[in-house]
Amino acid sequence: MTKETTVTIVGAGPAGLYFANLCQKAGIDYLLIDASNEVGGQITHLYPEKEIVDIPGINSIISKDYISKLLKGVDKSKILLNTKVEKIENNKVFAGDFVAKSKYVILAVGLGFSSPRPLGIEHENECKNILYHLKKFDFLKDKKVAIFGGGDSALDWSKEISKISNDVHLIHRRTEFRGNHETIKDCKNLKIHLPYVPYSIEYENGKATSITIKKVLPEGEKEEFEKIYVDYILVNYGNIAANCDFGFEKQGMFVKVDKDNKVKNNIFAVGDICDYENKKRRIAPSIAECDRVFKLIQS
Ligand SMILES: Cc1cc2nc3c(=O)[nH]c(=O)nc-3n(C[C@H](O)[C@H](O)[C@H](O)COP(=O)(O)OP(=O)(O)OC[C@H]3O[C@@H](n4cnc5c(N)ncnc54)[C@H](O)[C@@H]3O)c2cc1C
Repeated sequence: MTKETTVTIVGAGPAGLYFANLCQKAGIDYLLIDASNEVGGQITHLYPEKEIVDIPGINSIISKDYISKLLKGVDKSKILLNTKVEKIENNKVFAGDFVAKSKYVILAVGLGFSSPRPLGIEHENECKNILYHLKKFDFLKDKKVAIFGGGDSALDWSKEISKISNDVHLIHRRTEFRGNHETIKDCKNLKIHLPYVPYSIEYENGKATSITIKKVLPEGEKEEFEKIYVDYILVNYGNIAANCDFGFEKQGMFVKVDKDNKVKNNIFAVGDICDYENKKRRIAPSIAECDRVFKLIQS
């Protein structure tokens, strides 16, 4: 089956949904395709309950409500779910037997289909209480939680969980965080361990009971260890991205774009998938990228 539209948007995460809103408002014919059975990308799959405070024009919003808000501005009949795009060629988008033919293709596949990066220590797979995604966090109330990672996700979760438990540890392998450390500046209950790496897990009946961490020290110095008792371990080491570059020129793991977010010809990339100097993988820059591309295709 072939469908012809003016714009085909591949990926219905926040970037793809926002682009669909722009098309809808301007009366431009579009098709929004997603491989998953739900829209919303990382928000829906990884953090539907989180409070987002850094979207321009919105003071604070629970992440799943942000997706509902975006969805309201999209014609549902133009959304095609459970459709994994495999190839993009000459402005034709191929997903199995389905072909979308359009003037413009907007690549908004985010991190693609990805699996979480593990802690990388023995017995990790045997522990059911090591979590890599967190949809809700109220079950962590008063629990002993060890959070690993130094990016924004680790800091965001540290902030939220230390509001409901006073036994929360944040462990990172460097002396500085990659994410915005302002996030945790008022977290009085949070115990921070820098620079430490996970060393070993002690477990019982399929659950980690404690995790030993090792201090990162210059070679030759006496080794230092700490043992943290846990009810849950939360790993925020990011994802191992599956191949979602469709053969376009890459920059690191992502698709290289020019200053107009152009990949080539009439193909553009927005959101987490695209890369340029100082690119930030957040919602606000995605919105700016969509606005920029939309202006261009309208002119
Ligand atoms: C825990 C966590 C907390 C975060 N908190 C914040 C925050 O507070 N503020 C903020 O600004 N940002 C935050 N972020 C980052 C933000 O979620 C991302 O920048 C945003 O989701 C990127 O949107 P996107 O649409 O580019 O990609 P994604 O959200 O990754 O969506 C991509 C979509 O494309 C689909 N797809 C992938 N491959 C294909 C294919 N081949 N065919 C069809 N569909 C495909 C996927 O199914 C998915 O629905 C957070 C991220 C995490 C992990």
